[in-house]
Amino acid sequence: TQSAASKTFEATQFKPTPNNLEAFFMPFTSNRAFKAKPRLFVKAEGMHYTTIEGRKVLDASAGLWCMNCGHGRKEISEAVARQIAEMDYAPPFNMGHPSSFELASRVAALLPAGLDHVFFTNSGSESVDSALKIALAYHRARGQGTRQKLIGRDRGYHGVGFGGISVGGMVNNRKWFGNALNGVDHLPHTYNRQEMAYSKGMPTWGTHLADELEKLVALHDASNIAAVIVEPVACSTGVLVPPQGYLQKLREICTKHGILLIFDEVITGFGRLGASFATEYFGVKPDLITCAKGLTNGSIPMGAVIVSKDIYDTFMGSAAEGAIELFHGYTYSAHPVACAAGLAALDIYKNEGLFDRVKELSPYWEQAIHSLKGTKHIVDLRNIGLIGAVELEPRAGKPGARGQEAFIAAYEAGVLTRVTGDTIAMSPPFIVEKSQIDQMVTTLRDVLNKID
Ligand code: PMP
Repeated sequence: TQSAASKTFEATQFKPTPNNLEAFFMPFTSNRAFKAKPRLFVKAEGMHYTTIEGRKVLDASAGLWCMNCGHGRKEISEAVARQIAEMDYAPPFNMGHPSSFELASRVAALLPAGLDHVFFTNSGSESVDSALKIALAYHRARGQGTRQKLIGRDRGYHGVGFGGISVGGMVNNRKWFGNALNGVDHLPHTYNRQEMAYSKGMPTWGTHLADELEKLVALHDASNIAAVIVEPVACSTGVLVPPQGYLQKLREICTKHGILLIFDEVITGFGRLGASFATEYFGVKPDLITCAKGLTNGSIPMGAVIVSKDIYDTFMGSAAEGAIELFHGYTYSAHPVACAAGLAALDIYKNEGLFDRVKELSPYWEQAIHSLKGTKHIVDLRNIGLIGAVELEPRAGKPGARGQEAFIAAYEAGVLTRVTGDTIAMSPPFIVEKSQIDQMVTTLRDVLNKID
């Protein structure tokens, strides 16, 4: 006989009460508001979640920008089950296992030549902190150890590690946690409503904002600057699409001054823009790329940093024979179960042509998002690839309140979105059907017409 505690947990039998919700200190959520009125998912299949009440909710946000192949993919769950049974774990310290090498090669093959080497982590935040550390160590390995300053961007989101919140530019992620890293500066963000409202895809205004980097170089001197990190599309702060030519210009300035350029592709990696990575979409090659999320289709936590051949070769060339070239890693770096999920996800992307599908759907998506123009409360609409943003006028004196209410109302009307301040963001799985895109837009229009 099984003891109650060892019985398999049955999600559908769970009855939320104030008591049994208490222990979990929930992340990124108002614990008190949520526990008074919980919203629980118990199943996921294809484009839908099922709530604990048995209601189907259309997933317009791919979980949290990660379920690019949709939910419940048997290829992934079976690969994961096989791997746990075969070999559940392998230590990454002085030991290896085959699928980590295979996955690294497969990821590198999605990137332009020269971005050839893949370091595995367990999340986007870890990828960012790893990339920043690699940038610092790279300059030191080349005898340029004064290059220690890191430059991020206002309204950037780079996860929640101390490195990530330091280069990030979101006040709530920074203000509670003290000084974080020293020696960080920020570029301005690229959003200007007056100049770019209702732009379709990339705004034509704003290329010159990249020149702000020259000002920071003049202020600090290039010999003190290690790296610049930006999201090609700043998603978590409301989908800020880069102005045409902006990323190219950042690249030119970094190259001119020997500064490494890091693209944080945690969201844009693995097809979100209709190309394997944003580097391909924009035709701009950074020195390092961070990714996570879509790498395993969100199924098993995993992230990665892709580094240039020059960076990798520098580490290999500068360390003494037999020495560890980069003293950095995690217990779960290249976890075999995550590698199995990653390989299965990459197979799905390829076999189903999902990155091309994004490219094909993008014009329909753009037209659908912009069809909301004129709807009550809306002050801007933005889109790129399979990402869309609906920005609402904030309520007087209550920033974020209308956005939150719209998010909840859309959820209750059967569509899961993502809210950031007063912007509703959407980024459906790539398997989305046009009729489901219509449902997302119609639901949002109805919801916005109803709320104050
Ligand atoms: N960087 C970017 C650009 C992200 O969008 C995110 C997560 N949304 C992160 C880093 C952090 O990833 P994680 O939550 O997996 O730590």
